[in-house]
Amino acid sequence: MRNVAVLGATGSIGTSTLDVIARHPHRFRASVLSAHGNVAALAGLCERFRPELAVIADPALEGELARRLASAGVRCEVASGHTALAAAASGGWCDTVVAAIVGAAGLDSTLAAARAGKRLLLANKESIVLAGPLLLEALRAGGGELIPVDSEHNAIFQCLPGGRPELARSGVRRLILTASGGPFRGRARAELATVTPDQACKHPKWSMGRKISVDSATLMNKGLEVIEAHHLFGAPADTIEVLVHPQSLVHSLVEYVDGSVLAQLGNPDMRTAIAHALAWPERVEAGVPPLDLAASGALQFEAPDLDTFRCLALAFQALRAGGDAPAVLNAANEVAVEAFLAGALPFLAIAEVVEAVLAELPAQAVVDVESLVARDGEARATARRLLLAACS
Ligand code: NAD
Ligand code: MG
Repeated sequence: MRNVAVLGATGSIGTSTLDVIARHPHRFRASVLSAHGNVAALAGLCERFRPELAVIADPALEGELARRLASAGVRCEVASGHTALAAAASGGWCDTVVAAIVGAAGLDSTLAAARAGKRLLLANKESIVLAGPLLLEALRAGGGELIPVDSEHNAIFQCLPGGRPELARSGVRRLILTASGGPFRGRARAELATVTPDQACKHPKWSMGRKISVDSATLMNKGLEVIEAHHLFGAPADTIEVLVHPQSLVHSLVEYVDGSVLAQLGNPDMRTAIAHALAWPERVEAGVPPLDLAASGALQFEAPDLDTFRCLALAFQALRAGGDAPAVLNAANEVAVEAFLAGALPFLAIAEVVEAVLAELPAQAVVDVESLVARDGEARATARRLLLAACS
């Protein structure tokens, strides 16, 4: 029996994870559940899944969560705050942690799970973009394993011999990450000046949280994934390519020096990657309908438009600059996306803010988590100052 901590249980990945867990009650058990502020939803999940521990990130809501659980007759430990999240990820309640919190807020618990040697199912890509080398070091020290849940990285993991080999020695020439192109694929820059958050969040193929949906519309999501692939697979920037594939059936590809290209295909449903990562190296049913290629029509592939979707070019720039540049990129992007979602920043200005923050804060070497978190704060403050200047 695998005891699984689902951190970010009320979100899109959390919901898909719980769906897979519920299909296999004799294999998987949701032993820890967490949410940011939606007490009612978290209490409802606790009633259904009966975890040992429930954590609400907002400490002001711990009392209400305890009251709701008591009145529903649910007996489980209750905790709150980010320290409790990290403790939940590293403690004896679980052997497996699904890191499905959105943004840099997931860093502490992801690192804690790695240090404690858990099986880490990584969806929270911002934490590896922010602290890649430190997360890998924590994994080595903890002796656990990381199975990527991001669909592209899960696909690459499946196409590599033994999951994560030394690429050059295995004859790998390129990692090719596919991108749907998002809701604005094919649009010219000028057409994007007035797009709204709701339009940006209407993804053609995937149903996801609002932050990653905006990242998919700007292609920053693919940029973060390029950096994620660099760390996960030890791949230099020049060996990672992005290919737009609007049908989202080919989730990524690995090209070998002999000309072979291996791809992983499936319907666009995160339960495939989650089930793969939970059961690995075995396979379990995920509730995903079989892929019907005869009915799906032509598969298209095209190069990304880096002039219109500048965030992808900025991510490559940050990866090549190295050091803490990816952390700066990520922090500036989180602030800009939040402002866009709040209606306070135009869509095209997201890339402008990220570019300006990268220019103000040149890359420095990564020393430790504390200095990275300080740099993350500095980048957020710089982005907010630029936002204020742009709005005044
Ligand atoms: P979401 O917004 O649907 O859910 C986020 C979850 O995190 C919620 O449970 C929320 O309560 C919790 N949360 C939010 N802020 C928090 C905070 N400050 N502290 C603690 N908890 C907090 O997001 P999502 O779409 O499920 O994405 C989660 C992560 O997975 C992101 O990093 C995203 O990039 C990644 N991811 C998502 C998908 C997808 O299909 N949704 C695919 C690949 C990767
Ligand atoms: Mg992805």
